[in-house]
Amino acid sequence: IANPRRPPVIWLSFQECTGCVESLLRSNHPTIEHLILDLISLDYSETLSAAAGHQAEAAKNKSITENRGKFILVVDGAIPTKDQGIYCKIAGKTALSILQETAPYAAAVVAMGSCASWGGVAAAGSNPTGAKGVPEILNKTKVVSIPGCPPNPYNLLSTLIYYITYNRLPELDEKGRPKFAYSRLIHENCERRPHFDAGRFATQFGDDMHRKGACLYKLGCKGPETYANCPSVLFGETGAGTWPVGIGHPCFGCTEKGVGFAEPLHQMA
Ligand code: SF4
Ligand code: SF4
Repeated sequence: IANPRRPPVIWLSFQECTGCVESLLRSNHPTIEHLILDLISLDYSETLSAAAGHQAEAAKNKSITENRGKFILVVDGAIPTKDQGIYCKIAGKTALSILQETAPYAAAVVAMGSCASWGGVAAAGSNPTGAKGVPEILNKTKVVSIPGCPPNPYNLLSTLIYYITYNRLPELDEKGRPKFAYSRLIHENCERRPHFDAGRFATQFGDDMHRKGACLYKLGCKGPETYANCPSVLFGETGAGTWPVGIGHPCFGCTEKGVGFAEPLHQMA
């Protein structure tokens, strides 16, 4: 899949914690260096660009001008809309205006993480900055959403490599998520599912059933209402069980709008 004319990618970061980029940095197939040195041309990234300041802005503007209709735009972080968007500014411009002036020239737009998908952490609670996700801002543009907090890097990498290989986006569900990654419930593939079916539940962190690996539903697990491939793809590539439920924490539904951040976890007796 190595391509001598590497597809240009512009990565914009707005109201975010850098967790989405950190997640990508820990991928192994392909590695981040293979991705950005051999497969794509990462023309702008606040975290990964060698350039900074005016030089980085110039690189971004040059890429947009030279690659109109050809570059992939990746966004992580939410976009504040309250008070004309003044709560996130880069190079003197609001995130809102940067997104609105860049997205129309992109071949494809990818919202990386729950913040970019619908507002995520920034939009939780009273949402003081009026944070919104990319699909809501660009309501006429088809946006691929890769929710998760952080999202699994392989869901982004697979989307990018699918696009590079076939020159089209993978099939999406009604929420704009790639079906290859978000069509099955966490609950379907969870290794604790036999305990759920047999009625064996942990009821407190550290209790006997928790230590024995029982189901976490009564500790608030949102696996039965959350679509994502976490139990299959895992995180960090350090072996079996390396995902939140695998290490004893309930799924908190970070890939589902209104499940993960809008409400407190249910604690069932
Ligand atoms: Fe950070 Fe999570 Fe938002 Fe990504 S989705 S920027 S990891 S808070
Ligand atoms: Fe389902 Fe969560 Fe129990 Fe796993 S731990 S079986 S996802 S309720």
